[in-house]
Amino acid sequence: MLLKIVESGSKYLSDISKPVTFSQLKQSNTQQLIDLMIATLRDKPGVGLAAPQVGELLRIIVIEDKKKYLEKVPQELLAAQGRKAVPLKVIVNPEIKIINKTEQFFFEGCLSVGGYRAIVPRATKVVVSGLDRNGEKISIDANGWLARILQHEVDHLNGRLYIEKMYPRSLLTEQHFSKNWAEATPEEIDKFVKHIRST
Ligand code: ZN
Repeated sequence: MLLKIVESGSKYLSDISKPVTFSQLKQSNTQQLIDLMIATLRDKPGVGLAAPQVGELLRIIVIEDKKKYLEKVPQELLAAQGRKAVPLKVIVNPEIKIINKTEQFFFEGCLSVGGYRAIVPRATKVVVSGLDRNGEKISIDANGWLARILQHEVDHLNGRLYIEKMYPRSLLTEQHFSKNWAEATPEEIDKFVKHIRST
């Protein structure tokens, strides 16, 4: 069974999600929600999913960036993005701390805003602490692309979408992205960012 992903405009995407209590986390319905979130993320596929995106206002996120997702991205871009495969992570009640505010500018999309991408500035380095699905404390030091995914998913728990943080003039359709920007060099993206920021 897969879950339905709610889309931009849904109240779930603008509300603040509630922390999960320890006893709630141990309940079978919460564990089942986590399993279904993982299955839904893999089905799309995406690299991150937050519980409000499936209509549950709970502070749970799942992240996974598989090696095969990276195959179509040019090596040079992967290096600039600091993107590497990330094994499955389930983070409950994540708390994010920005460690390096220096921003990176790359295209980002969202399963709840289908069909579009835009350039979003994100901090380069973060630390996320929280619980795993068994209630054990975890802490994740993240740079580059993983730091971006974590900021995007934690934003969902606070009722924020990337469209509030993007450069509006960089918004483009998925089709246009695939054709013209999916294999762009970091320099080309940088040049585009400088252009839209200066004109
Ligand atoms: Zn999203």
